Amino acid sequence: MTDAQNKPCIICVAITGSLPTKANNPAVPISIEEQLESTHEAFEAGASIVHAHVRNPDQTPTSDPDKFARLKEGLEKHCPGMIIQFSTGGRSGAGKARGGMLPLAPDMASLSVGSNNFPTRVYENPPDLIDWLAGEMRTYGVKPEVEAFDLSHIFQAVAMWRDGRIPDTPYIQFVMGVKNAMPVDKPAFDFYVETVRRLVPGGEWCAAGIGAGQLTVNEWSVAAGGHARTGLEDNVRLDRDTLAPSNAALVGRVVEICERNERPVATWQQARRMLGLREVAQAA
Ligand SMILES: [Zn+2]
Repeated sequence: MTDAQNKPCIICVAITGSLPTKANNPAVPISIEEQLESTHEAFEAGASIVHAHVRNPDQTPTSDPDKFARLKEGLEKHCPGMIIQFSTGGRSGAGKARGGMLPLAPDMASLSVGSNNFPTRVYENPPDLIDWLAGEMRTYGVKPEVEAFDLSHIFQAVAMWRDGRIPDTPYIQFVMGVKNAMPVDKPAFDFYVETVRRLVPGGEWCAAGIGAGQLTVNEWSVAAGGHARTGLEDNVRLDRDTLAPSNAALVGRVVEICERNERPVATWQQARRMLGLREVAQAA
């Protein structure tokens, strides 16, 4: 038996993102109502974290805190207990607008701790903005999920943990398969895992594969004892010829991988405990 076996696997569903549109896959939820319905299905299928962006009616991304507030309210009502994670990613706004929803105090928010290239531009995360976002997360009790698009981002997260800018054990997500950034590469993945185990002993970590690499990265992560992210934000297909019918279908695929690897799927209660998040009262 490996130490990965029997350890609950936390499944995060990234429901919308800032790029895919209904032209890519009609199942991409755009309105708040669609987002709530899609998240509810994914929650029932086994996801315990929802990673969310919000969109304008014309499908373009926005950082509008009012939309995030409506989404949070709906999620708390329809998916009680589920961990709510908002994106502070850079496609939906610039500078401090990216953190405008943090006063809503979601359970978690994504935090990029360094810059890298995206397919058509620089993903710009200057040190002062990173520190401001991390400070807002401390102020409002939001746990960051560090998005590691590069090996240096893992080291930066650890530095921020050691000097208190990230107050608790960092939860680091490896992101692989973004064009012009880190590809889906097994030796690099293994080195990421080894580095987190060395620098954050006992820390939880997860991984996301973008596009066709999603399933591959899910397999690697579950087998290595990490947690898994899926969802239409990262990938709109089941395979080369088939569009994913829903976020729940992508979650179901990770559930199957967990079964094959003898890992139970984490309930939201287990996920909250493993990530050190506040307990919430169970719905009656
Ligand atoms: Zn995102």
